[in-house]
Formats: sequence, structure tokens, C-alpha cells
Amino acid sequence: MAASRVAVVGAGLAGLAAGFDLAKAGFEVELFERSRLLGGRATSFVIDGIEVDNGQHVFLGCCTEFLRFVDRIGMSSLVRMQERFDALVFSRDGVASRLRAVGLPAPWHLVGSFLGYRHLAWRDKLRLARTLKAAETPPCEGSFAQWLALHGEREEALRSFWRPFFIPALNAPLEDVSAADAIFVLSTAFLNGAEAARFGYATVPLARFAAKAAESVARVHLSAPVTGLSYSRTHGEVDGIILDDGQRRAFDAVVLALAPPQLSRVAGDATQIGLPALDGYKPYPIVDVHLWHDRGRLGFDFAAVLDSPLQWIFEKGSGYLCCSLSDARSYVSMPAVEVSQRCWEEIKRAIPALHGATLVRSAVTRNAEATYLPAPTQRRPGPQTSFPNLAIAGSWTDTGWPDTMESAVRSGVAAARLLAGALGSVAIVA
Ligand SMILES: Cc1cc2nc3c(=O)[nH]c(=O)nc-3n(C[C@H](O)[C@H](O)[C@H](O)COP(=O)(O)OP(=O)(O)OC[C@H]3O[C@@H](n4cnc5c(N)ncnc54)[C@H](O)[C@@H]3O)c2cc1C
Repeated sequence: MAASRVAVVGAGLAGLAAGFDLAKAGFEVELFERSRLLGGRATSFVIDGIEVDNGQHVFLGCCTEFLRFVDRIGMSSLVRMQERFDALVFSRDGVASRLRAVGLPAPWHLVGSFLGYRHLAWRDKLRLARTLKAAETPPCEGSFAQWLALHGEREEALRSFWRPFFIPALNAPLEDVSAADAIFVLSTAFLNGAEAARFGYATVPLARFAAKAAESVARVHLSAPVTGLSYSRTHGEVDGIILDDGQRRAFDAVVLALAPPQLSRVAGDATQIGLPALDGYKPYPIVDVHLWHDRGRLGFDFAAVLDSPLQWIFEKGSGYLCCSLSDARSYVSMPAVEVSQRCWEEIKRAIPALHGATLVRSAVTRNAEATYLPAPTQRRPGPQTSFPNLAIAGSWTDTGWPDTMESAVRSGVAAARLLAGALGSVAIVA
């Protein structure tokens, strides 16, 4: 019997994870991607002859599904993972200090790391230890900023710990994220043992991961936007997809692995496929500033800079730094030359080894819709739709995680599992 044919629309991590699992389960999978690139919001491209990521991506030790996916596509050797949580933090004028997990059970592994942290006064350290303890016990209502204020966290601790770690983790100001979401990250990453908070990143351009995952599917169609779905009246099912040239392609099942606005466009209206209306997702931008200088290797993997637009700096190679600006609403529309110059001035001030250095070249990558934050009233749907052979996936769906690579992979795995069950296939590999 011929294998069931599945169309996966969207070649971001969610679509790739769904496609990979469905292909491994014996389906004939075709991947349709609007862009000429694979990887969606986690991709890379060439600027002036140099391949750069569209934005620096990091993951943590607790991102178990993302790591499992990387392992299954055979790319584990191309990610670097810290042995334990270890973050170098500079003040804006160049005072360096480290937060480094110590060998104690959680949360003391982290509390212990604050002992030598120079950017916090003793009373703030003690309060922070109490706040970390309080995060283990619900309720946690309202915004994260409100929750922190309730636990007496003051401006000093906000600027030296909470903002540098939680704005990038959630890509939104602490006032906009729910306490529940932030405390999920806090508990999963920081209070879950020393392994969970380890930072990791890819050592090759991100698009390589996407390309490797896509090798598993039968056919990949790039620059192939899907404009709609076709339905079988007799069977009450989806029976294919419509391409932008009006052509209909028949499939036994479809995964829509798209961000909320894109999904609404392809489905016509999300409620038509049994989803809640998707107008409660607010996009937040990320801007990355790539700087090449004449000082060679500085000798750190990454570092945070307090009170600075730089936020986090990654040393991507000798003389190549990438500054990742989360919640970058003030920078997303700024001319590239101005953003680069501002970052370069900041970086020279914060990193003593760069005093007097020369900027050789720069580039700015920006994504106005880097992540989607659901409004408190927005229900996040799971993979299921009102059609048994149509599933959705995407980092914004109900995976329990904020909009991250981990969430994208989890959603793809869930969509594949749902369709495999509906089509009566062999089980998806656990
Ligand atoms: C600059 C930046 C930095 C980030 N940093 C981090 C980080 O450090 N850690 C982390 O975990 N996450 C990070 N993220 C978020 C992470 O990249 C996303 O959560 C994840 O990649 C989303 O994957 P996805 O597959 O759900 O969606 P997407 O990647 O958006 O995939 C959707 C795909 O569908 C395609 N598409 C859209 N419409 C159509 C159509 N009509 N037909 C066919 N295809 C279509 C799109 O082109 C896209 O490829 C970052 C994102 C950005 C942009």
C-alpha cells in the first residue's frame, strides 16, 4: 500500500520537526516554504560574503526536546553546551563579574553563585534568595514585574539580574510578561538543578540544522507560498493545499506550521478550522548587531552588559562579535549605521580589551516579529483542528513553553504524533 502523503507548510523548526518525525514514521512528506531559505526564524544567510545567523540563538540544558531533535538529525556534535551555568556580566563601564553555578542542589546551586557576584549588594542577594524560594510556591498572578515588586525586588536587582536574564528569555519587558510564564522559565531553567540552566548554542550557521532535518522528507519546495487549503465536502476533511499560482496539490493530511498571522491568512480565518481567533498575539522584535573589529579573539563565549542596549554579546569568531538586542522596539526601525555605531561605542566602553579598537565592518539583522507573546486572554491552541487530517504547529501554540526553539520543536513533534494517530500509522518514535 502506498504511504500516506502529508504536506507540511512552513519550514521553520516546528515544520521541520513535524516533517522529520512523519517521514521517519513512514509517511511521504512534502515541505512547502514561502521563503528561499529553510529554518524560518532560526536561519542564516550570507551578507557581504559572510554567512551570519538571522539572530543569535541560544538554548538551555532544560530544552530537552530541542536537544533531542538535534541529536536525531545527527547534529549533536555541532552544538556547544556549557558544563554548568556560567555567565560573565559586565557593568556598562567595564567591571566584570561572573554568575557561576556551584555544586549544590537546586536552588542553592544558583544562590551560591550570587556569593561572589559584584553587581549586587548583600541585602539584594539575600532578598533574591528568598524570591527564588518563593517561586517554588504558587500563586503567581499578574505580570512578572508585579510579582517581583510583591516580593520586594528593588531596581538594583532588576537591573543586575532579573532584566538581563528574563527580558532575553521572554523577549518582552517584565511588565508585559505574565508572572506564570516567567516563573515557568525560572523554575524550569534556574531552579531545576545545575544542568538545566547551562547555556548552549550552535557552532555552525543555523541554516545547517534546517538543511539536515529537511533531508529526511521526500520533497522540499522553496519559494513556494501556500495560499489556502482545499476541502473534501464528502469526507469532511482537508484534501490538499493551494499554491500561489492557483494550483491545487492533493494530500492525505496537512500540517500548518506557521506563525499566527500567516496561519490566519492560509486558513482564511482560524475559527474555520476550529481554532480560537488568533488576534491576541503581540509580536516583539529582536535586532542583532554584527561587529568585526581589529583585536582578534577576546576569549569569552558570551557576556551580558548591564544598563546598556547591548544586553548580550557573543564572540562568534576571532574579531567577530554579535550583540543580541531583545525587546528591541527602540532599535528595530533605526538606520543600521546608527545602531551599529551606538553598539560599538557601548561595547568599547564595557569591554576593557576593546578600548581603542577599530571597527572594521558591521551588519545589522532585524526581525520585527521575532517572537509572539499571547495576551492573558488568548487561548493557545494545541495541534488539533476540527479536521482529523489537519494539524497545526508553531512555537506560539500550547506547548507550555514561551515562543522559543524548544516550543517550536515540541509543537512539531505533537502535530506529527496527532496525524500519525489519525492516519493509523506506525507509532512515532518516542
Ligand atoms: C532574531 C531572533 C532571535 C531569537 N533568539 C532565540 C533564542 O535565542 N532562543 C530561542 O529558543 N528562540 C529564539 N528565537 C525564537 C525562535 O527562532 C522561534 O521561536 C522559532 O524558530 C519559531 O519556529 P516556528 O517553526 O514555530 O516558526 P517560524 O520559524 O516562523 O516558521 C514558519 C515558517 O513558515 C513560513 N511561511 C509563512 N507563510 C507561509 C506560507 N503561506 N506558505 C509556506 N510557508 C510559509 C515562514 O517563511 C517560516 O519559514 C529567536 C527568533 C529571532 C527572529
